[in-house]
Amino acid sequence: MKQFKTESKKLLDLMINSIYTNKEIFLRELISNASDALDKLSFEAIKNPDLGVDQSTLAIRLSFDKEARSVTVSDNGIGMTKAELDENLGTIAHSGSEQFREANADRQGEDIDIIGQFGVGFYSSFMVATKVRVVSRALGADEAFVWESDGVRGYSIEPAGEGERSGAEEHGTDVILFLRESSESDDTDQYLSEGGLRDLVTRYSNYVRHPIQMMVTKSRQKPKPEDAPDDYKPEYEDYQELDTLNSMTPIWKKRQSEVKQEDYNEFYQSTFHDWSDPARTVSFHAEGALSYDALLFIPSRRPFDLYSKDYEKGLALYSSNVLIQEKCADLVPDYYNFVHGVVDSPDVSLNISRETLQQNSQLRAIARRVEKKIHSELEDMRDNDRESYETFFENFGRGIKFGIYNSYGMKAADLADLLLFWSAQEGKQVTFAEYADAMPEGQDKIYFAAGDSRERLEQVPAVRSALDHGFDVLLCTQDVDEFMFQVMRSWHQDGTEGDSEHEGAKERDLELANVANADLDFATDDEKAEAEKATSEHQELFDDLKESLGDKVTSVRVAAGLGDAPATIASEGPVSLEMERVISQGPDADAASAPKAQRVLQLNATHPVFAKLVAAKEAGDKDRLALLGSILYDQALLVEGLPVDDPVEFARNVAKLM
Ligand code: ADP
Ligand code: MG
Repeated sequence: MKQFKTESKKLLDLMINSIYTNKEIFLRELISNASDALDKLSFEAIKNPDLGVDQSTLAIRLSFDKEARSVTVSDNGIGMTKAELDENLGTIAHSGSEQFREANADRQGEDIDIIGQFGVGFYSSFMVATKVRVVSRALGADEAFVWESDGVRGYSIEPAGEGERSGAEEHGTDVILFLRESSESDDTDQYLSEGGLRDLVTRYSNYVRHPIQMMVTKSRQKPKPEDAPDDYKPEYEDYQELDTLNSMTPIWKKRQSEVKQEDYNEFYQSTFHDWSDPARTVSFHAEGALSYDALLFIPSRRPFDLYSKDYEKGLALYSSNVLIQEKCADLVPDYYNFVHGVVDSPDVSLNISRETLQQNSQLRAIARRVEKKIHSELEDMRDNDRESYETFFENFGRGIKFGIYNSYGMKAADLADLLLFWSAQEGKQVTFAEYADAMPEGQDKIYFAAGDSRERLEQVPAVRSALDHGFDVLLCTQDVDEFMFQVMRSWHQDGTEGDSEHEGAKERDLELANVANADLDFATDDEKAEAEKATSEHQELFDDLKESLGDKVTSVRVAAGLGDAPATIASEGPVSLEMERVISQGPDADAASAPKAQRVLQLNATHPVFAKLVAAKEAGDKDRLALLGSILYDQALLVEGLPVDDPVEFARNVAKLM
């Protein structure tokens, strides 16, 4: 008897003690494994015609035995060797269950919901069975083996007995479940009937591409005897017949109008291991020189591992009903890495390998269409279902921003209009176009502020000043925002013909400007004139302050329109204060070489504190001037949410002043 690996034990324990109500999903999981095994076999068969596999015989068989309380799922697929039985059924090393392991790593205790959340695969058998027996013969193997377990103590693997897949052509797998006793809360008897099994197949596995067959009992009228009396009543007899229970047409080959959304949802959940319905489903088809069927889903939740390095993007790629690749990455761009789906094309070569995928012009053509479809689906959601779109953007917007950043802005033309930002003025999320449409006459830039929280940004003097002067500000709190703005530089809108809904949009090109940048001010002409006057009158004061602050600032100046703040810190040049902060917190931050923002101390000449500076200067009190300058600088940093260089000195300075 071998022991299960630790993670497997945890999962098994959860399965056996499960009070999960959808225990019936075990059948879907076993059928899906059988179908995978048939896919693998047909792929081998095509690569290697000498194997002599007859594709038309590939099938999944269900049967049950009331006496023995057993249900069997059989396939004549690729089968498993002794080592594979050990590896695949003794450890959690596979997709659905692996997710479970990761999710459970930081979630202690028994969370029954987990079962519904992930495709937990083979082990789900133990929700309904006290013993599971797997008889398998790998393609080309000399013998078959039997794996057996009660799901608790461990498992055993033995050579198969007489008559169990003993012929060389009997490759494939039988999974035999010995069911628990039926109880009121746990009706296992339903699986020991034709109707029960048929029902589960149509519900969960209808679109499996391989036939799911079962011997069923049917009734027919006996032929009427020649010498039948006049009052002959027809007689009936039972007979057995192999029935195919599923519709078999892959769901992606059907037109969207012919499929119920429920069926798409079911397919989506079981295939892509998500427990919620997709936000959007898109099916499209091409015929002609390049034909294909495609089915795409935009998830409504973010997978917990989206940002982990293990996350694999891609669509399943089929050719003439053979699965070529489970995750063909070339079919979706990185910024749409959340999209799940299937592409099936008879025109894609079966022998396509990972290396040649990129050079394959058919695939590239399909990928372009996939991208367009996703894009227009997102636009539709943005324009017609804003609430769902906001959720979508919350989940996946960051990746789209990275798409712009990583393409050095080249993708901005496609992606910028999918972005949403928090508008300080409106108090809700807006697109660039919505921002631009609401701009007052004379505004020629899109203003944004970047920082770690909206609440803090709303208090920043530059933002308040912009708002006071009637300019809206986009409040950006994601690390990628400013970097993306920097590669974009401006937001461009093509001119469009007016349609019934929108007035013909004019062509626009608006610079993206950080409100904290020293080049900006929102002052009125009067305020500016006042500031200029102060600048020319007090040049020496600024020089002294600059000297006392040393390297901390590149210059000291008066700025107009700072409202009630005595001073602010602004930045000059390519690196803003927020970028400096993000970079310094990055994983490979190196304090010495990290780029620094060039800081400018901006003074408010209308604030009473300014008069104190002037007085100190006039009194020739250099120490006092330096003290005031240092405190103003540190205060301004604190208001921006930046750390002061030396908190001890700051405290000492404030004490001195008091
Ligand atoms: P997953 O299907 O997500 O990989 P499962 O727990 O359902 O995880 O199955 C574990 C593994 O066991 C599969 O990946 C496959 O290698 C193997 N397996 C299960 N059932 C069969 C089968 N009927 N034929 C061949 N291999 C199988
Ligand atoms: Mg599985």
